[in-house]
Amino acid sequence: MTEAAMGEGTRAVRAGLPEPVKNEPTLPGPVFAAHFHLPGEVSGPYAYGRDENPTWTHLERAIGELEAPGEGVETLVFASGVAAIAAVLFSQLSAGDAVVLPADGYQVLPLVRAQLEAYGIEVRTAPTAGDAQLDALDGAKLLLIETPCNPGLDVCDIRRLAEAAHARGALVAVDNTLATPLGQRPLALGADFSMASGTKQLTGHGDVLLGYVAGRDAAAMAAVRRWRKIIGAISGPMEAWLAHRSLATLQLRVDRQNATALLLAEALRERPEVTALRYPGLSGDPAHKIASQQMRHYGSVISFTLPTRARAERFLQALRLVDDATSFGGVRSTAERRRRWGGDDVPEGFIRLSVGAEDPEDLVADVLRALDESDR
Ligand SMILES: *Cc1c(COP(=O)(O)O)cnc(C)c1O
Repeated sequence: MTEAAMGEGTRAVRAGLPEPVKNEPTLPGPVFAAHFHLPGEVSGPYAYGRDENPTWTHLERAIGELEAPGEGVETLVFASGVAAIAAVLFSQLSAGDAVVLPADGYQVLPLVRAQLEAYGIEVRTAPTAGDAQLDALDGAKLLLIETPCNPGLDVCDIRRLAEAAHARGALVAVDNTLATPLGQRPLALGADFSMASGTKQLTGHGDVLLGYVAGRDAAAMAAVRRWRKIIGAISGPMEAWLAHRSLATLQLRVDRQNATALLLAEALRERPEVTALRYPGLSGDPAHKIASQQMRHYGSVISFTLPTRARAERFLQALRLVDDATSFGGVRSTAERRRRWGGDDVPEGFIRLSVGAEDPEDLVADVLRALDESDR
């Protein structure tokens, strides 16, 4: 059976595995090596551990198979999602270039923006909803989009934006963190780079930081690889191996977590104290139409607003099955009052809730009970 024809669960459990070798493990263990035997001339892939590592190679193949089944795209893993995003931006842009970034994306992007500007790169921003990026594309070298965006969960039309960007000679990079490659395949929708934080749902256990960039264009990817070498933001072999091990359950986790997220969103929709409820999988959500055209799964994250900061804090304290913690996509549910970080432009009562792998009825009951108890 070809890779492209497999079901996504089958692909997830087999992704990146080497050909079977008698008496060897199915997934080879982490290779801890700063350097490799290298007699004579420099040849072969593995010479020095900052450039290449066999444990990365297996993981990179695996992620590439999930991002673009059967296409053999190149994938590079990084120490974190931010390292991967920075690698795309700083390897593709030079002084005098213009880039379009999301105005409502990941909260580190404003810091990245300041650094790009310090290097003489013009930064334009546009909100994610309504394909507002179209107005900022003229003369840009790169368009970076985050869809669904974190934490607002707006969605933009990847195919439409990629066509418009390419018509103007711009490259397109998509932050695929929230959807995961099972939820959405940006390269098939026309993007040049799909990049993500593997720290979130991709690995799903909240114990690994990881990032990756996948892309089809050899020259563009060579520049990303060169950037990784000179910045050295590399993943440790143990983290890469844990990530690969975690990929085997990606489809199970995505299935459970996304189904429960929809159930929870439907339950929250009935609550009068909950406003601005967002989940791209919810029919009637402003993002649902485009999301249903380009996504196969809608993610594990829900956002909503409670009337006041105090109410939101009481709600978070009353939860028993949902940890008050940042990040998302893990097997244990988490929620937080996003405004506590100061970065995102959201109301004081804004909650981002990440649905874990608990039994759906337990989780929904816990959230509804915490809402009741916080109403005093
Ligand atoms: C978390 C996150 C990142 C950054 O990933 P790290 O692994 O924490 O560096 C980038 N983009 C999005 C959308 C994220 O949620």
